[in-house]
Amino acid sequence: MDADEFKKWAYEIVDWISDYFKNIEAYNVKPNIQPGAIKNQLPLNPPEDSEKFENILDDFKKIIVPGMTHWQHPNFFAYFPANTSFPSIAAEFLTSALAAQCMMWQTSPAAAELEELTMDWLRKMIGLPEDFTGVIQDTASTATLCSILTAREKFSSFDINTKGFSGDEQFRVYCSTEAHSSIEKAVKIAGIGKENLVKIPVDENFAMLPAELEKQIEIDIINGYKPLCVVDALGTTGCTAIDPLKEIGEICIENNIWLHVDAAFAGSALILPEYKWMLYGIEYADSFVFNPHKWLFTNFDCSAYFVRDKESLIRTFEIVPEYLKSAESQVNNYKDWGIQLGRRFRALKLWFVIRNFGVNGLQEKLRYHLELTRELKQKIESENDFEILAPVPFNVICFRFKPAGLNEDELNKINEMLLSNLNDSGKIFLTHTKLNGKFVIRFVIATTNVESRHVEHGWELIKKVAHSLII
Ligand SMILES: *Cc1c(COP(=O)(O)O)cnc(C)c1O
Repeated sequence: MDADEFKKWAYEIVDWISDYFKNIEAYNVKPNIQPGAIKNQLPLNPPEDSEKFENILDDFKKIIVPGMTHWQHPNFFAYFPANTSFPSIAAEFLTSALAAQCMMWQTSPAAAELEELTMDWLRKMIGLPEDFTGVIQDTASTATLCSILTAREKFSSFDINTKGFSGDEQFRVYCSTEAHSSIEKAVKIAGIGKENLVKIPVDENFAMLPAELEKQIEIDIINGYKPLCVVDALGTTGCTAIDPLKEIGEICIENNIWLHVDAAFAGSALILPEYKWMLYGIEYADSFVFNPHKWLFTNFDCSAYFVRDKESLIRTFEIVPEYLKSAESQVNNYKDWGIQLGRRFRALKLWFVIRNFGVNGLQEKLRYHLELTRELKQKIESENDFEILAPVPFNVICFRFKPAGLNEDELNKINEMLLSNLNDSGKIFLTHTKLNGKFVIRFVIATTNVESRHVEHGWELIKKVAHSLII
């Protein structure tokens, strides 16, 4: 394909994308297909000779698209979203065209400097103190791993990086029972061992109990452990519970423990003045992560990781072999700020999004999602045979169908059935979690183009399918 041919197809692709978004509601949110359905339509071996681009694009439309779960569908209320927006998509076009590998300043000065700038914009937007510095990671999982590795090195005088574990280290990491699985993954990878991840009980709102944390730390110290890091969840994945940052932070300061804040989803809400209270206690935090690729209209992957002590981060990851040495100082070589050497130019999409929406535009979108959530919450509360099982501080509602006369076991079963019937319909996509052993359905209102009619239609469908189960 040459540049002229590319231009012809690229126009066609842009038309397809624009139509896709215009007609997205015609698709089932999630395809109702069996495993293997897509692979079975494709040849086992790669083509020996060039295939016509027309045919490739055709197969994309006929085979791939029908096998996709449509994350940008406004009836997608599952997991947390991976939302996007047109400025973000446009930037991704350009990023892929430049195809730069942005590991160091000199491998693309503009990429390094734009990352520095956009991370500082973001820091100001969410209200983190000035002594935090940001870097874009691929995911919150990676950011949390970086955080735990940095804590490990800082508290071992960078010895484990140099000599490996001596065998005497008895590190402990703490998070709540509701915290994300990425913490356990990070603890495994960092060589701390998942038995040394201590899960602290939560209160009736699913937030970590600081008194329990304090107690556990005291016991661990007596038993010869070194408490290394506490992960404070600012919006858990199950029900967006908020661990009390200030109280947890005070315990960390007192015991010289690294405090990492995992705000992967809910951190976006910090751009709203009415949510800034969540940062009460942020002065105790060492690191903070949130994902613009979840609820800030920026394509996956774009995870914003902020650290207070960037020197320790860099010292943990820096490697300078001869062939990567460069003369510039005063610039950021982001290869030293995390795990990967090679990096995509991810700041461009964030820059496009922030500029094209404006901070006001972003705030407006989030407030609309929060308003839709309040409306739905009222509707659910007004039904006798539905109940909400967790506070709703953001745009996630954990509810269940609760027809009279069923025991807990039967309620779990009927809600499981309700969820799978809803999802099989293709009209809506929701996912579940368990809270205190109760199967609950999560209704997440956060996709870019969701409107009240989608939420209303979803709720009517839920009621209809639910009531059909008890006749
Ligand atoms: C989604 C989520 C993560 C993981 O995010 P990735 O970017 O996919 O790694 C971590 N923590 C919380 C609280 C999350 O909601």
